[in-house]
Amino acid sequence: MISDIKLGYRCNNDCIHCVIADQRDAALELRGNTDRSTEEYRQELLACRARGATDVVFTGGEPTLRDDLLSLAELARSLGLRISMQSNGRRFSDRALAEAFVGLDISYLIALHSCTADRHDAITRARGSFEETVAGIENLLALGQKLSTKVVLSKKNVTDLVPTVRLFERIGVEHIGVAFPHAQGNAGRDFDRVVPRYTEVLPHVHRAAAHCRRAGLEIRFEAVPLCMMRGFELHVGELEVQDIPTELSQLDFQTYDWNTVRKRLKAKFSQCRTCRYDAVCEGPWREYAERFGSREFVPARGPPVGWSLPGAHAGRRTVRTGRRAARGEKVNRTTCRACGAPLTTQLTCGRCGYLPCCHDQP
Ligand code: SF4
Repeated sequence: MISDIKLGYRCNNDCIHCVIADQRDAALELRGNTDRSTEEYRQELLACRARGATDVVFTGGEPTLRDDLLSLAELARSLGLRISMQSNGRRFSDRALAEAFVGLDISYLIALHSCTADRHDAITRARGSFEETVAGIENLLALGQKLSTKVVLSKKNVTDLVPTVRLFERIGVEHIGVAFPHAQGNAGRDFDRVVPRYTEVLPHVHRAAAHCRRAGLEIRFEAVPLCMMRGFELHVGELEVQDIPTELSQLDFQTYDWNTVRKRLKAKFSQCRTCRYDAVCEGPWREYAERFGSREFVPARGPPVGWSLPGAHAGRRTVRTGRRAARGEKVNRTTCRACGAPLTTQLTCGRCGYLPCCHDQP
């Protein structure tokens, strides 16, 4: 089980798409600050371990703003928890700080929203953030740390997506996440200037996915329904996380089952009942559907795809191949486990119709 812990709501960015602005304001009103104490987080780590967590994700706000982050990470490791950290990466531009975390086997997810300083800084509303984030990414990679990047799409950066992916490629990032914005917090307050239409972003999304395939990079899209990803279905991120138990702990709310809650925050439509992806698709964020309706969502034809298909979750297989294997990294196989055909563009195997588990993908 993954336990996702918000280490406070303070941040040195103020992104236009930030979803936690409402919770941050509520925390300020309720408790007069946006953080909890070190002891509270120590107890939280002990409690999540006792509930059976194997992995912990440190998020925020910006976790690196906490002076006790290293001690919390050390405690997590001593409890046997694998650690991921979601950060804007700015403070890792300080090489000494990046070095302090080496040895804790942390997987970093660093947010960079554009390939240009002007645009990224306009999105984060923090001048100089682009230079610091890029330096942070470079420091962590130079130190041999596991690192993915994340782009949150908005009206400001849609056309930047492919060049941003190319920037990641140039600096050595091989795992990329792209999220469609959730209109809560800042994105909800400024919906019209932040949230694009799917029809506007899809050409860029598909080009980015195609580029990553050619370049051997891994890319996943969050909150982009399967009917929007024809030919690129296996890059839908939710397919990968739906069956991984994940609890989410906010500052002043109880821990809850994120997979269940996330699905309640999404919308489905009457036409979805005729779509072959209905059983595995979560649909778009509810706020998007409320604003724009259902017309963009055209059901996919064909035999229904569902988790109940035989062998869909037969487990993870890894083989060592290619560039990543040269560094000793494990990578997942890319051929159909049922018939051996290459898995490229379709959600089901083009040769035998097998529904590959997302774990079959590189
Ligand atoms: S179920 Fe609905 S939202 Fe999901 S892919 Fe099909 S038509 Fe699109």
